Amino acid sequence: MTQLDPRSLIAMAGFMAALMAVVLLLMRRYYPPSILGVGAWACAPLLWLVASALFSARGVLPDLLTLVLANQLLFLGSTIYYIGCRRFLGHTNGWHPWAVVVVLTTLALTWLTYVQPHYAARLVLFTAMMISVYAASLRFLLRHGGNRFPVRLVEAVMALHILALLVRLATALTGKAGTDLMEASLYQTLHVGAYALAVLLLSIGAVLMATDRLATELQHLATHDTLTQSLNRRALLERCTDELERCERSGKGPALMMLDLDHFKAVNDTHGHQHGDAVLVHFVQRAQAVLRRADRLGRYGGEEFLVLLPETDAYAARGVAQRIHAAVATGHALDCQLSIGVTTWQGPQDTLDAMLARADKALYQAKEQGRNQTCVA
Ligand code: GH3
Ligand code: MG
Ligand code: MG
Repeated sequence: MTQLDPRSLIAMAGFMAALMAVVLLLMRRYYPPSILGVGAWACAPLLWLVASALFSARGVLPDLLTLVLANQLLFLGSTIYYIGCRRFLGHTNGWHPWAVVVVLTTLALTWLTYVQPHYAARLVLFTAMMISVYAASLRFLLRHGGNRFPVRLVEAVMALHILALLVRLATALTGKAGTDLMEASLYQTLHVGAYALAVLLLSIGAVLMATDRLATELQHLATHDTLTQSLNRRALLERCTDELERCERSGKGPALMMLDLDHFKAVNDTHGHQHGDAVLVHFVQRAQAVLRRADRLGRYGGEEFLVLLPETDAYAARGVAQRIHAAVATGHALDCQLSIGVTTWQGPQDTLDAMLARADKALYQAKEQGRNQTCVA
């Protein structure tokens, strides 16, 4: 244990905090601003770094800095980490109650350092503060964080750290916590070791959460149309190919539906392009609402859309088409009319290109016959 004395562990924690702060600051600089909370996450290791530096200066600098301020910066770092999690998940900062806690506990810790010095009491108070902020963070992430791996990792780190803090609280309450943080005792070493690990793993967790979000956003951008948020042409055609491969095994083929808004040029010319855009968005929302879970709607181009209906025959597809016609004829200011061409899978020899050509032909026929209707090919 001599190499792992608290002082070197604290220095190590400070070093790791510094590195992670640099990484997170760079991420804040270069990641899209739509990923919230990274700034707060970068502040956390910065505060932990200063706290570690102050802890290391115990005996050299006054206690007010190495004891009260150091502990409070550690606590503040964890609080800001929590605020980062809240921002990341689109919640309000929620820092007000914590500000009150910081002010009150600063007074209490100062009192227990100068007026009535009491190491065990300080320890109990500080450990309770840390447990409360980690418990609040953990509760928040469990409720709102979803189940992606990075969030799960952070939750596990927090749960373990809370456990370590509870052990520390128990040792403090039973008078086994020693008299000074820098004692090279097993308890102190374990405590400082847990702190160093938490600093590192929580920062890594923040990096992973932000990166995971970036990957999800990029994936969404690559597969969705920016205006209507429906699938884009490439993503939808990929799903069609997958579906055709799948149905060769199952024998239950999909239907394809080609949709084209009627006289859309006139809508633009009469009401302007922004109105036209709003009509497209409205149309997609209405159509999505009447599709089944497995159905996929995508923007084929301009005011043309494609719907993939897995395991659907012509009769059922026609029913879906009727529902779409009805959904955009409800009297809403953005309602529009459209023509639909439907085709179904003709067996293993059928191809996506052939299906698209048939759906297009059926659509053309619907236009020919006066629009605002569905034809099946
Ligand atoms: P038809 O009934 O025969 O389909 O006539 P149409 O006017 O709908 O067809 P046409 O192909 O002549 O015009 C399509 C119009 O859709 C022209 C184009 O400016 C408009 N358009 C395509 N993409 C967008 C878009 O993203 N936003 C808006 N506002 N208009 C778009
Ligand atoms: Mg059109
Ligand atoms: Mg068109």
